Amino acid sequence: MKLLKTLLSITFISFLTGGILTGCDGFLNGEHKFAPDHDDQNIQENAKDKAPDQDKKDQSKDKEKDNPYANAPKVDPTKYHDKAIQVVANPNEVSILVNKQYKLPDNYEPDDLVYPDVHFIFSEKIEKRKMRKVAAKALEEMFAAAEKDGIYLAGASGYRSQETQITLYDNYVKKDGKEEADRYSARPGHSEHQTGLSIDVSGISAECAVEDCFADTAEAKWLADHAHEYGYIIRYPKDKENLTGYMYEPWHIRYVGKEMAKEIFEQDITLEEYYNVAIPVNERK
Ligand SMILES: [Zn+2]
Repeated sequence: MKLLKTLLSITFISFLTGGILTGCDGFLNGEHKFAPDHDDQNIQENAKDKAPDQDKKDQSKDKEKDNPYANAPKVDPTKYHDKAIQVVANPNEVSILVNKQYKLPDNYEPDDLVYPDVHFIFSEKIEKRKMRKVAAKALEEMFAAAEKDGIYLAGASGYRSQETQITLYDNYVKKDGKEEADRYSARPGHSEHQTGLSIDVSGISAECAVEDCFADTAEAKWLADHAHEYGYIIRYPKDKENLTGYMYEPWHIRYVGKEMAKEIFEQDITLEEYYNVAIPVNERK
């Protein structure tokens, strides 16, 4: 399947000045504490590489050619990379990759933010109720479909400006320290919420909203099974912190469009694996 119809261009920015942040210490030491399953994965990947299936090889070559992220330096996705931060040049693409390496242009704000016509766990008409038009429409369809299955979803937090992210992140760092905060909160410019394509979803009762216990709810199960049908993916799946850089967040969904969401769901991969930007732990330096 064709990876992307449109190419995104990436502006490479090299930060030649500035010190190494404390969050990178583990990375520099070559240590990594979230790597329990990687040997298995490597074995599988090596086996795949050795398969004498020429068609598959050709397909993956095409895929690499269409991949706007193929030429960027590969780095440990769990850490911020001061010297390898890429600024995405076209942040309006729904297929955009935003993570600890790829950031949005400074103060990026989508110009098509709307209020999706769905339930939220709060009543105010405020920033975090907004989403980009295409994602809002898909969200409305998804919540309506869930209701038909007896599942009542509600939005908890959608769009977030860079300014809001600055406040949030600073508070988390004060509370838990930078290293821990980096596991669950994005630094300003690196948050998917700033794209207007992501939203944290809860049950309508708001019980377990944006909390670990959400994972055990019927709402989380429904999302995991059906979100892709509406163009959304569970962006930070369980046991994939090595690849996404974030702890499991069953509530955080990201709009990527139906075709891409289906592929990601069916292959059970992360967005980082889709773009082949994640590297195995034992190759990290
Ligand atoms: Zn989120």
